[in-house]
Amino acid sequence: MVLRRPRRQFLPEVTLMPGRRPSALPAVLTGLLAGLAAGCVSSSVTPSFETDRYADHVRVLASDDFEGRRPATAGEEKTVAYLEQEFRRAGLQPGASGSFRQPVSLVELRTRPDAALRISGAGGDTLLKYADDAVYWTKRVVPELALTDSDLVFVGYGIVEPAMGWNDYAGLDMRGKTAVILVNDPGFATGDPELFNGRAMTYHGRWTYKYEEAARQGAAGAIIVHEEAPAAYPWEVLRNGAARPQLAIYTPPEATSLVGVEGWMTRDAAVKVFLAAGLDYDTVKAAAAKRGFRAMPLPLRATTRVANDIHRITSNNVVGILPGANRPDEYVIYTAHWDHLGRTAEGSGDTIFNGAVDNATGTAALIELARAFGEVRPRPERSVVFVGFTGEEYGLLGSEYFADHPVVPLAQIAGGFNMDGMAVNGRTRDVTVVGYGASELEDYLAAAAAGQGRVLAPEPTPEKGSYYRSDHFMLARKGVPMLYARAGIDSEQHGPEWGLQQNTDYISHRYHKPSDEFDPDWDLSGAIQDLELYFDVGLMLAMEQGFPNWRPGNEFRAIRDQSRAGGAASQ
Ligand SMILES: [Zn+2]
Repeated sequence: MVLRRPRRQFLPEVTLMPGRRPSALPAVLTGLLAGLAAGCVSSSVTPSFETDRYADHVRVLASDDFEGRRPATAGEEKTVAYLEQEFRRAGLQPGASGSFRQPVSLVELRTRPDAALRISGAGGDTLLKYADDAVYWTKRVVPELALTDSDLVFVGYGIVEPAMGWNDYAGLDMRGKTAVILVNDPGFATGDPELFNGRAMTYHGRWTYKYEEAARQGAAGAIIVHEEAPAAYPWEVLRNGAARPQLAIYTPPEATSLVGVEGWMTRDAAVKVFLAAGLDYDTVKAAAAKRGFRAMPLPLRATTRVANDIHRITSNNVVGILPGANRPDEYVIYTAHWDHLGRTAEGSGDTIFNGAVDNATGTAALIELARAFGEVRPRPERSVVFVGFTGEEYGLLGSEYFADHPVVPLAQIAGGFNMDGMAVNGRTRDVTVVGYGASELEDYLAAAAAGQGRVLAPEPTPEKGSYYRSDHFMLARKGVPMLYARAGIDSEQHGPEWGLQQNTDYISHRYHKPSDEFDPDWDLSGAIQDLELYFDVGLMLAMEQGFPNWRPGNEFRAIRDQSRAGGAASQ
């Protein structure tokens, strides 16, 4: 089946979401749209996307032969070779020092923790049993690390945000001490829209941020209190995750960018710990959500030890660049993680995590976008960068490495698109935007979507913090405006309830399970619809001169302003 439909690029009259005035469009974009309508900017060659070709990529990448695409396995070699071949075929140039491969030095850590985390106080010892009450590990590349009578300090949400006048570590010297930290942020806890974006999760609410900040403060240990609603997943996820070998970016053993011991404790364990300190957990938790909260040193000490089996490995990001015709030193970027979870250790039944939706579909989209941009004539004015990231499933490792070791100056990237899971249930009337309201790129997306007769819709569950849970985030936190859109919910054929039901069904039955397999019965017309959309947005960006920004109030705007000012100064 070959799906060809007339390519409707951009309508001259832009239909926006209700409540959004057309004047919200940047002037340069309005001009560009008018230009496209008048036929003076549009490309003479407009590529098309075909279902069969797209499906073939997904089928190959998700096949048992690719072994679930775990980094540094035979499955990686096949995946990376496939991406290289397709990038070359698309006419891309190698993007990483003359190679399509950007090596990423990783370490595989198998933690052997002590059986318990001992909390000592005047009233005796409280033992937090590993797996049942607490999980802990070290990501430092050392064979062994101990906490010995480390003073506990309750630091509330563990947030330092000068722009908000918030500092949970004010006046503290955390050296040698262990921080006890609440998950999520005061906005989620109180629902106050003035605090950390209300119920929607911010970067400061993510567990990764908690460990990073504790490390900046020089803490020896950092233990987060798990609660299911603000964490957005049950304790089992943490317990099972901690039992698997961890992958991390290799850091020298002496590096202090990581807290010594990272971990979580259950809410029940936290109640016991605070009781041992003569405090009521719910009372101190409520206090921590209020402005002016001061951290509380607890009359308790933590002791435990973790050992590591260390195995160094090398994986690869795959980077290709299509040089721009007029402004090759300005960039548009498309990203998708190629990796997935590999195979299970157990031998019974299906042992391969094929990762078909997650993220063979996004990787196939990356390949198809590369091919399409390679066919655009005349060439786009700006360069277009395509990156297949490694290690997303293990903590956004490849994208973190790429953001720290960019192959092009980040200040020169006008904006980009991350793809993690494409539509497999047909065409939709809407486009789900994760992290809705974040950047001016949404104006481009809205305009292109209007050209398809579609509207933008926010993600249904912003409190889950999905914007912080895929690769675009690593670029966003360096200031690069990144879009993360997903399949819409409002199915053309079956309506929104059915669409939502399909999503829920996928999350419960296939997400991160061996059953996430290629299905010949998928309706990939929605993926093709989204490919056309993502292509249109990228082409708009590649043809114009503006540099979109984050919207006022967004947590990444100041970083972008600084990076753009620095980038301009260095030219
Ligand atoms: Zn994914």
